[in-house]
Amino acid sequence: MQRRKVTLKLYPNAAQAARLEDWTRLHCELYNAALEERIDAWRKEGKSISSFDQQNVLPQIKADRPEFIALGSHALQQTLRRLDLAFAAFFRRVKAGQTPGFPRFKSSMRFSGFAYPDPAGWKLMQHGGRGATLRLGSGEAAMSIRARGRHRFGDQAKPNDITLTRKGGGWFVSVTLRVPDAACARERTADFRRGVDFGINDWATFDEGPPIANPRWLREELPHLAALQRQRARKKNGSLRFKRLGRRIARLHDRIGNLRRDFVQKETTRMVRQCAVLATEQLAPKTMSRSAKGTVDAPGRRVRQKAGLNREILSAGFGMVHRMLAYKAEEAGTRLHLSHTRQLKPSQRCAACWELVPKTLAQRVHGCPHCGHTAPRDQNSAMVVLIDAFNTQDTSGTGVAARPKPLPRQRGKSKSVTRETPATTPCV
Ligand SMILES: [Zn+2]
Repeated sequence: MQRRKVTLKLYPNAAQAARLEDWTRLHCELYNAALEERIDAWRKEGKSISSFDQQNVLPQIKADRPEFIALGSHALQQTLRRLDLAFAAFFRRVKAGQTPGFPRFKSSMRFSGFAYPDPAGWKLMQHGGRGATLRLGSGEAAMSIRARGRHRFGDQAKPNDITLTRKGGGWFVSVTLRVPDAACARERTADFRRGVDFGINDWATFDEGPPIANPRWLREELPHLAALQRQRARKKNGSLRFKRLGRRIARLHDRIGNLRRDFVQKETTRMVRQCAVLATEQLAPKTMSRSAKGTVDAPGRRVRQKAGLNREILSAGFGMVHRMLAYKAEEAGTRLHLSHTRQLKPSQRCAACWELVPKTLAQRVHGCPHCGHTAPRDQNSAMVVLIDAFNTQDTSGTGVAARPKPLPRQRGKSKSVTRETPATTPCV
């Protein structure tokens, strides 16, 4: 059994939308009341309360305020647990020496939604094609909301829990499915062995063959976004026009996010379907996108360029790429190899002779002074991680440190290097 998440868009009618808003407001009220109770208990008695203590009060609340009954007890408990999570995150960060903000009271406008933690109080019916119906609540308060979206797991997938969220004026339901392993499997159409380098000039460069160009959603949409933000900056804060522009900006952000997710979903699926071995480097987006500003004493260099680069890095969504590749590779029986970036230094290493050839980010071509091998920079690093995948047996990738001795020197085209390297076990 495995867990998979799918998101469906909801199409509530006006009455249903109003009720969803009402329910969100009540959940928010509960959240704020629970937060206040915790703060009071701590101030007055130095006592901390958990969500379990607070759950016990729920029946009393429902007796006093019957409008809470329709929300379902488990959904209410889930909102209390959400507060627990907020506190847990707060204390974890305090412990780590950071200075987090204390869990906040939320306005119902900002409260994102609510969740049902188990298969009770709701039912999701799939109608074939893309149509579905979500039935919420019971008795008089029950409502059947039209939904759109589908998943590929068929009838064996059982919905386990749902989260309803409000985003950009629309409602979405995120469903966790329990799927039998067999239904998760993906068919593979080819058994290529590929090294891939994810970048910002091209989105993905392979050890051979054409790269996948970067669609650059952000570059195309960014001037538009910036213009809207400038317009909003001229409006009076909180005015009608200010809010209207705020909504347009939010919608544009959503649009960019949707385009990105769609693109990455399709490309990662294609990769794992075609490859028996897929090698790439481990990811460290935090260090890659670290602020270039530096400090007052040691100001950074090329701050503007680095800021633009950060934006591109984040927009390309490599974290998302790796998460998708990880589970999709497992589903397709593809061996995903992640090279240790700092040990291996794929962008600095020569794929033909394995010597380190330092270059700056601006140098787009790898030219090796040791063996004369030249290749486009990204293609060279894709080749290096692919070789690394053959040299290390485990999927996690251990890189240079684990290698007993460097590869024998080889001359000529890098292509021959991989093809002649004996294959390791294809799948793990
Ligand atoms: Zn070389």
